[in-house]
Formats: sequence, structure tokens, C-alpha cells
Amino acid sequence: AAIKRTALKIGMIPADGIGKEVLPAAQRVLEALGSAIPKPEFIPLLAGWEEFNKNGKALPEETIRVLKEECDSAMFGSVSSPSHKVAGYSSPIVALRKHLDLYANVRPVKAVPIPGQPFFKADMVIVRENTECLYIKKETIETNSDGSKIALATRQITSRASERIGKMAFEIALRRGQERQAATDPHAWWKGEPKVTIVHKSNVLSVTDGLFRESVRSIKEGTDKYDGVKMEEQLVDSMVYRMFREPEIFDVAVAPNLYGDIISDGAAALVGSLGLVPSINAGDDFVMGEPVHGSAPDIEGKNIANPIASIRSAALLLSSLGYIEPAAKINAAVDAVLAEGKYLTPDLGGKSSTTDVTDAILKRL
Ligand code: ATP
Ligand code: MG
Repeated sequence: AAIKRTALKIGMIPADGIGKEVLPAAQRVLEALGSAIPKPEFIPLLAGWEEFNKNGKALPEETIRVLKEECDSAMFGSVSSPSHKVAGYSSPIVALRKHLDLYANVRPVKAVPIPGQPFFKADMVIVRENTECLYIKKETIETNSDGSKIALATRQITSRASERIGKMAFEIALRRGQERQAATDPHAWWKGEPKVTIVHKSNVLSVTDGLFRESVRSIKEGTDKYDGVKMEEQLVDSMVYRMFREPEIFDVAVAPNLYGDIISDGAAALVGSLGLVPSINAGDDFVMGEPVHGSAPDIEGKNIANPIASIRSAALLLSSLGYIEPAAKINAAVDAVLAEGKYLTPDLGGKSSTTDVTDAILKRL
């Protein structure tokens, strides 16, 4: 919702590994926007694997309280996870999504030509439902009389969850249309009207995917608000094929949880480095930016992590709060630095540090 605020209170949860290096970069960029946004106030908060090892809680109650009572948004860095199951530990990100009712995972996949890197014309957003589908984890296993086994999983699709994710997808499509108008972007590969593609497999799963499809369709059909947004459908298998063959034909794609998980990771491959892909976890009242990459223990503490995923996550957070022009400005600065190719971190074949890249983006801003 585009509420204009006098202040922005952003909970900052760097958590583990390179999260502690890339989140400050995002903070610097937000600070540099000056009067273009309400003055941001950053509230540092604890969570993560290291916090669990220190104080026994991966997500301290105080962090949840402050987020709920004092913040209107948050930025999350990255979390390390133990390679084996550890008693009492569970991912703070999953818990945060539950506590804050962040039912959508929104992942823009935007490719900018980078000198020396392969390039695809991708500029799309994948909107993934994040609360149901096969991931409700209702699984059973039984042994037949002949000793063979049968495992079953329940897939839950509700009209309520499908409608709200559909609504979010249409809202994002509208916003992207506005963003394209706010700034001339040479890398906006989708040139047409705003468009939502519903991803499903209702030719086979006619009941569950059928309900998903119908629910999303009903959002556009129930109002004239989205008259300017086209709606089309893709079966998930052909979606994967077309996403790699001709990514430029997609604007916003909306999918149930499992398909969304798979296509959003797949689509990230179109971008060149995990260090470039941002996301937000969004609900109706709260939004949390989070780079898609993990804590990258192999490069931790060296000041060489790519800060762009975090910086783009901050831009995405702003645009979802209604600050469309400042968000477009951040992305334009990032695109320009990438296209110039002078300041690139090692994941993109460069020699620059996290700080160098951030400085270059700030200069463009
Ligand atoms: P985790 O268990 O936290 O998910 P991981 O090693 O499985 O850690 P990532 O942290 O996502 O997964 O890293 C995968 C690879 O991508 C690593 O080699 C890492 O160095 C690299 N990588 C991830 N993020 C970045 C980044 N921001 N900048 C540069 N390289 C990155
Ligand atoms: Mg990982």
C-alpha cells in the first residue's frame, strides 16, 4: 500500500556471513536518497545461526517485538544453516515470514549487459505464493503388505491465498508500468503493457491448479482497476522453456509455491550472479527485503561480496511502499555501474571490493 510516511522505520537484520557486509551497503544507498524519501531510521536487530550459538535463539523475541511494534519494514541479510539437524534450531527467515504474515516472495530477475558476461534479455518479476501448496509439509509414508512403500504428500490450494497472491501480482504489474514511465530504462526488455502471466498445470492438476488459476483470474475480472494489465497463462513446463528461450516476453509471473520456488531459482540463472538477485518477502502490512543469496561462508569477511542483490532489495522495498521514483533511481544507478563494467566484484569477473562497488553506485545516485 502506498502510504506516505514522515519517517521510515526499517529493522536491519544482517544475521550471518556476508549479510553483515552487504546490508550496510544497502543502508548507505537508502541514506543517500536524502529528501526523496522520508528520513529512514535504521534499527539494528539480532537473528541467525551465530545468534543461536551465542544466546540459544535464532530469532529472539525482542527482534519480533520491535519489528511488529516499531518498524514498518525490514531488511534481512543472510543466514547460515548448520549442515546437520541441530536440536532447537530452525531458520529465522521461515519464522519471520510466519510472524509477520509475509505470504509472498517477490523476485525480480533483471539482466543488464555486463562486459565479459553472458547475457539474456530478462526483466521480469516472479511472484511466488509462500504459505501453502506442497510446502504445508503434510507427508505420510506407509508400508504395503509386500514390503514396498508408499509416500503421499498433501497439496493445499485455497482461494483466499491464491486471490491475495494474484492481487499482489496485479499491483506489482501496475507499479512496474509506472516505474517504466518514471525513468527511461534501456534495460527494460518488456516493452508492452503491464502483463501478468499465471503459471500453473491445470491441464493435469485440474482441481488444485484449477482453483489457483480461477482465483487469480477473478482478481482482474472483478474490477476495472487492472484494465491496463494484460493477463495470460503458461503451463509451468512451457514457462521454463520460454523463460530461457525468450525471457523478454515476460513481465510479472505469478505461481503457486512449488512452481514459484523452481522457476524463481531457475530464472536467477539468467542474471549472471547470485550476488545480483534481490527479493522481498511481502504481506499486506509489512515488507522485508532480502538478497536471494546465502551467507557465502567461502568469501565472508573479505569485503568482496557483491552488494547489488541487497541494494536492489532495498529498491524493491521502497517501490513496494510506494516510493517508485527513488526505487527507479537506485536501479538505474546499479544498471549504469554494471553496464560500465569498471567496478565489478569477483563473482562478475572484476577486482572491486564491496565498498568500491557501493561507492560507484552512490556516485551515480
Ligand atoms: P548458505 O548455506 O548460507 O545458503 P551457500 O554457500 O549454500 O550458503 P550461497 O551463500 O548462496 O550459498 O553461495 C553460493 C555461492 O555463490 C558461493 O560460492 C558464494 O560465494 C557465491 N555468492 C553468494 N552470494 C554472493 C555475493 N553476494 N557476492 C559474491 N558471491 C556470492
Ligand atoms: Mg544456499
